Amino acid sequence: MRKLLLSALVLAAVSSLTAQAAVTDSMIEQEAKTGKEVLSYGLGTRGQRFSPLTQINTKSIKTLAPAWSFSFGGEKQRGQESQPLINNGKMFVTASYSRIFAIDTKTGKKLWKYEHRLPEGIMPCCDVVNRGAALYDNLVIFGTLDAQLVALDQTTGKVVWKEKIDDFAAGYSYTAAPLIAKGLVLTGVSGGEFGVVGRVEARDAKTGKMVWTRPTVEGHMGTLNGKDNGITGTTNATWPGELWKTGGAATWLGGTYDPETGLAYFGTGNPGPWNSHLRKGDNLYSCSTVAVDVATGKIVWHYQNTPNDGWDFDGVNEFVTFDMDGKRVGGKADRNGFFYVNDAKTGKLINAFPFVKKVTWATGIDLKSGRPNYVPENRPGDPTAGADGKKGATVFAAPSFLGGKNQMPMAYSPKTGMFYVPSNEWGMDIWNEPVSYKKGAAYLGAGFTIKTINDDYIGALRAIDPKTGKIAWEVKNGAPLWGGVMTTAGDLVFWGTPEGYLKAADAKTGKVVWQFQTGSGIVAPPVTWQEGDTQYLAVVSGWGGAVPLWGGDVASKVNYLEQGGSVWVFKLAGK
Ligand code: CA
Repeated sequence: MRKLLLSALVLAAVSSLTAQAAVTDSMIEQEAKTGKEVLSYGLGTRGQRFSPLTQINTKSIKTLAPAWSFSFGGEKQRGQESQPLINNGKMFVTASYSRIFAIDTKTGKKLWKYEHRLPEGIMPCCDVVNRGAALYDNLVIFGTLDAQLVALDQTTGKVVWKEKIDDFAAGYSYTAAPLIAKGLVLTGVSGGEFGVVGRVEARDAKTGKMVWTRPTVEGHMGTLNGKDNGITGTTNATWPGELWKTGGAATWLGGTYDPETGLAYFGTGNPGPWNSHLRKGDNLYSCSTVAVDVATGKIVWHYQNTPNDGWDFDGVNEFVTFDMDGKRVGGKADRNGFFYVNDAKTGKLINAFPFVKKVTWATGIDLKSGRPNYVPENRPGDPTAGADGKKGATVFAAPSFLGGKNQMPMAYSPKTGMFYVPSNEWGMDIWNEPVSYKKGAAYLGAGFTIKTINDDYIGALRAIDPKTGKIAWEVKNGAPLWGGVMTTAGDLVFWGTPEGYLKAADAKTGKVVWQFQTGSGIVAPPVTWQEGDTQYLAVVSGWGGAVPLWGGDVASKVNYLEQGGSVWVFKLAGK
């Protein structure tokens, strides 16, 4: 009897250990409140990137120093845009070329590695990056450059399930961190430069089985549990002819989820092709935020940031929900240079203002109609209007297509009420050319050269009040900012630079209070968590991403930067 009782106790202890490691929906809903673990991309599915931890603060930070560093190794360096996840003493961090590592958070010792076997002919547009994984149950789930989703056992690194997102030979790939909402794993697609069809998909996170799909181009059919679930929008209402069939609107940066609204917010990329004269109309739902009901897979509202986009102003940027004037709203710093505040439940536009200094394509956003006031002469010209029909008039446009902000996530502090936005000041010469769709080929119909605007800086980390649109402070940076931001209740803002520094500033004043050189450029967002009585901080280092590949004059300005691939972990002295 006594023996039986003992073994029952042992069993209970074992199952409680397992329960602690297994990630649940309620743990994910709590992570932003406790700050103890990092279970989601965004430090919470709302993507605020705010940690309530205070051990590392404006006073104590002077003793912040490395605890350990881990190299991703091999010859596969290139851009490292990954945000680590932390659960139960383990770090899960993805790396270039579809790799993922599990590391002991105390010692920096490698626990396991998974290297996805990539086929010849993958077509990532903008470097072989990956932005991170998702955790659910005992699984760690990430997307690959050949457009697959892989779920691995957190303890062993063994593959539990694997699902194909789409055909990589048609230009599909996946680089964003998946999003967990109510036991579902939500993903988008990459490939907006190849005429793919954007969509949001929800699978059972435990099994990988498809639950619903929702295309983000009007005219395409969605599904729920394998059955038709209604067409997105109204066929041909905002898209002419057949072009919607290869309409782009790629959801390549993933999404955010707010349990209070039950909605997942996904940004959508450019309509295909870039040449806007080929597709008259607004081209829904490209360059928009779409709010999808997680329970039904239906679009509840949409807001289009750039109707009939002609500049590759992908509207993929994260929609971060917060409370303003007693209302749940969302902020988005769009690639087109404007910061938007929309009602999180209805999508109604509440505020819009530029967050970069030079915007040429519109003079502002009309808060009544919600539409931009275009500057028609600053739209790249129609090739068919020219003498030879081969090249339209070139215009100088700002921001450049790399955006006022790109993939690097901003942070929001409920303590200061400020957004901390990693922004860039740059422009481009852009012109249109004729183009037709060909499977697996670039579908642009445009040419371009990225240009600097100022001699002394391109990047600027800006503290922005979403109510007034005022910039409270900024810290300029020579190279374009391409990492992400985190803010904490210790009144700090952390971000990395391509020059290799992880920096911290006072969240109220912008005074830089700490920095550390990581040995390669930082193009990834930092995280923080607590273990025992110690607050840790981590960031991935490894220069790359879209800037060296597409940056024109800017790329040659920063071609002295070295590649890398490592993760750095920090704590205070004596901890
Ligand atoms: Ca694009």
